Amino acid sequence: MKRSLAAAGLLAMLSGGVPVAIAGTGPLCGTGRNTAICFASVDRGGALSPDERAKLAAAAPVAIDIVSSRQFAAELAAFYAALPPRWVKGNRYWRGFDPVEAPKAIRAAFAGLHIDTRGGARARKSAAFGGNLAYEGSTDKRTGERFIMLNRYRLDRPLGGLVSTYVHEASHKGGYSHRAGQTRDQKCEPPYVMAQLARKLAEPDKWANFAASKNACRFWREAR
Ligand SMILES: [Zn+2]
Repeated sequence: MKRSLAAAGLLAMLSGGVPVAIAGTGPLCGTGRNTAICFASVDRGGALSPDERAKLAAAAPVAIDIVSSRQFAAELAAFYAALPPRWVKGNRYWRGFDPVEAPKAIRAAFAGLHIDTRGGARARKSAAFGGNLAYEGSTDKRTGERFIMLNRYRLDRPLGGLVSTYVHEASHKGGYSHRAGQTRDQKCEPPYVMAQLARKLAEPDKWANFAASKNACRFWREAR
């Protein structure tokens, strides 16, 4: 499996060994059929420790490969098909959603995306109170560069969490949105659901626990 190659690379890095060369054109690219899709950089500002940087980098090919996989497309289509029709009708973020187009949009958003981090008092406060894991970032008007920003105080998360964050923020770049305000249903809106699916495929053994938590869309645990 393509993904297990990336996982092997991550394990090698975490165990302090020399990173295994991932079969791609670069460490921030997907593998196999996805070698042409590459994040642009991790930690341009050089604010992270080598370990932190390696961990963020290792999640990049995993995110690309997962969103590009048939499994992701199939799970997304199945989730979408099973959404309560009345709920979809009343939800402007799902109305008009195309489960075939969405993974393509995220793949396109990954390409050339910089993974930056944000420190400072606001990020620290947000981290302390369970707030933002990441910020959507913006497009640099001068250079056209696109970036997302991870909260520097919330980097100590497992692979699935980082992959999930990349998918969520890249989905915003791809035009997908959700309501503000951490409502119960926000977790069921497209950026969250696609991020949750990526997490599921990145760490299948942890999925049951996650799906039962309040961080997951309630539809995973409610009979539909
Ligand atoms: Zn968001």
